Amino acid sequence: ERRNPAQPEFHQAVREVLETLAPVFAARPEYAEAGLVERLVEPERQIIFRVPWQDDHGRVHVNRGYRVEFNSALGPYKGGLRFHPSVNIGVVKFLGFEQIFKNALTGLGIGGGKGGSDFDPRGRSDSEVMRFCQSFMTELHRHIGEHTDVPAGDIGVGGREIGYLFGQYRRITNRWEAGVLTGKGQGWGGSAIRPEATGYGSVLFAAEMLAARGGALDGLTAVVSGSGNVALHTIEKLQQLGANPLTASDSEGYVVDDKGIDLALLRQIKEAERGRVSEYAQRRGASARFVRGGRVWEVPADVAFPSATQNELDEADARTLVQNGVKAVSEGANMPTTPAAVRILQEAGVAFGPGKAANAGGVAVSALEMAQNAGRSAWPAARVEEELAAIMRSIHTVTSETAVRYGAPGDYVTGANIAGFERVADAMLAQGVI
Ligand code: NAP
Repeated sequence: ERRNPAQPEFHQAVREVLETLAPVFAARPEYAEAGLVERLVEPERQIIFRVPWQDDHGRVHVNRGYRVEFNSALGPYKGGLRFHPSVNIGVVKFLGFEQIFKNALTGLGIGGGKGGSDFDPRGRSDSEVMRFCQSFMTELHRHIGEHTDVPAGDIGVGGREIGYLFGQYRRITNRWEAGVLTGKGQGWGGSAIRPEATGYGSVLFAAEMLAARGGALDGLTAVVSGSGNVALHTIEKLQQLGANPLTASDSEGYVVDDKGIDLALLRQIKEAERGRVSEYAQRRGASARFVRGGRVWEVPADVAFPSATQNELDEADARTLVQNGVKAVSEGANMPTTPAAVRILQEAGVAFGPGKAANAGGVAVSALEMAQNAGRSAWPAARVEEELAAIMRSIHTVTSETAVRYGAPGDYVTGANIAGFERVADAMLAQGVI
């Protein structure tokens, strides 16, 4: 904390991992001798830069841009860009740190990194967003590349932003280097199923956790937070598997629909109109209501999918979920559940899928996008979906088996942290003190 002051999210993410690693260090003393923890918590490189841009009225704004290249022992740095006013170096470092282990769990040869800006895209016109992205890439392009560092989307960065960023990269470098960014549009290097992958994967992970206990998603009700990329595709996959998602939310409140979310209407409002979830309740009719400032976790349901942002599900929320008989919680977002809330859920016997495992489907399909780009090919959606399902199954298997191996059966937090760590640690050991 002395070395990295005022970075509470980073401290939280590091503490959460280190607390589960004690038995690994006891079993493998060579890890400590190689200074692995000290090296892992220090990013290989941190880049902070000025992003000046002009709004539609000619006024100049200055934002701050970040890219933290955390660990490349397993492959090029890989992780999204977040555009949100809450972004600072501590947030980017927490996300980059988690990304190392998540990416290792996919088994696909990608290192960990993350970036973004405190730019707020909300209420900005397309041309303002374009000018911002062009300015951001004007600096970022020096640091990335298909073999070096491959950014993607995250909060506030979707297909539109990736398009503007890719256009500027191509213009500055005079290279068609598709593998430099993932989440591109289909038709210019993007992979089928990439937009869907994080939400789909989080639901598939929940299905695996339930199956391990002899259950299934079919017929269950679900609470979902958020209404962005991850939340919308979580809702979609839940409906495909016969479950009934009842909610969606944004930073203003949540909507609950007794008949189940009408996905076409929600998509029209969120994707086509870039509107707010409160409008859903106004347009849906009697079955839906909007609860301003409410916590989505107060809606009783069988399974829960935090899919908005960090620390959005706290101790009190966890108690409410347990009282309402929740069976499984699958983290679509990164670190949405506070450590105290995780403990409450696990102690109550709820199957808890941590983000490192449960939301790894997005970055996994990003790695498949890189593979398609390298081979100048485009795989059909059915093939990508099959591979995604196989990857989520294998992440479930490796996390559960690792948890058993370390005497914590059913504890996916321990399993994911240790399994991810072992892969990175072995690569770092083999590559020497660098
Ligand atoms: P997104 O499309 O921008 O949607 C974000 C959603 O979360 C919006 O509904 C937003 O509501 C809400 N939200 C954001 N910040 C909030 C805050 N401080 N308080 C309350 N609500 C907030 O982003 P996304 O891609 O779905 O990402 C959601 C989560 O999934 C993030 O934790 C992200 O790191 C994680 N994740 C994403 C991917 C991916 O492939 N996209 C992969 C792995 C993990 P407002 O509109 O009101 O802000």
